[in-house]
Amino acid sequence: MLIELQSHSTVSDGQLAPAQVVEEAAKAGVTTLALTDHDGVAGVPAAAAAAERLGIELVPAIEMSCVHEYAEDLHICGYWIDLETMGPICDRAQEERRTRAGEIVANLRREGFDLTLEDAIREAGDADSIGRPHIAKAAGATGDLGPFFEEYLVPGAKAFVPRRWPSAAEAIELIRGAGGVAVVAHPYWDISDPQEVEDLIRSLRPDGIETYYPPHTREQTAHLLGLCEELGLVATASSDYHGPTHKTFAEFGAYDTYGLGEPQVPARP
Ligand code: AMP
Ligand code: MN
Repeated sequence: MLIELQSHSTVSDGQLAPAQVVEEAAKAGVTTLALTDHDGVAGVPAAAAAAERLGIELVPAIEMSCVHEYAEDLHICGYWIDLETMGPICDRAQEERRTRAGEIVANLRREGFDLTLEDAIREAGDADSIGRPHIAKAAGATGDLGPFFEEYLVPGAKAFVPRRWPSAAEAIELIRGAGGVAVVAHPYWDISDPQEVEDLIRSLRPDGIETYYPPHTREQTAHLLGLCEELGLVATASSDYHGPTHKTFAEFGAYDTYGLGEPQVPARP
């Protein structure tokens, strides 16, 4: 059994088409997969068809970006969501992304960059969800985008514009309203302070926590697992696959359970 409950296709910031992601997953021995594109579900039907053909389980899913006082870009995964209900929610999230992208582009122009929103949209290619990495590339950043982000695109930097909708609590409500299960993605990727992670989980009361995740240390994994056990939450796992040559997330089966437990798949509500 290999459980992988977060992966990305060209519908958001992944490198492969949805069916290709499933093919790579099957090749790597994944038995249960979720395609979790950022604020988009357009890839799920093709992924489901490929999964059926290849004999692996595909959980219909999404990864919603949201705001929280501890993290300007917190991610909540929704599993077993109804795609029809989720569609208009994705539309709104994508519209919010375009509005924010336009404001960031205007700030970058003020800083002397010669780019337009159309350039950034072109950079997003097939992606439904335009994001800051597309804007950075449209502004001329190449290779490691880190330095460009640090100077212009992170909170407090010259061209940063915060996301405004949804809040983390709203994202959870939207996912549940679409019949889904809400799981806080990779908490220690977005937040480093254990106390803040704990406050976040205790106040949001999601249905699960993405506990097993490549950058999570043994100590962080044990902390999240303890919270899952105490609060009755599902402990999920992923390697956050973004494609074969992605800088950080290029391999299925890359997370470590540290022998602490076994990843779980949320039950269909
Ligand atoms: P957005 O959806 O527009 O908020 O952009 C979020 C994406 O920006 C993340 O998924 C990362 O890929 C990227 N990102 C965020 N912070 C950084 C950073 N400091 N350096 C490089 N990329 C970053
Ligand atoms: Mn994520």
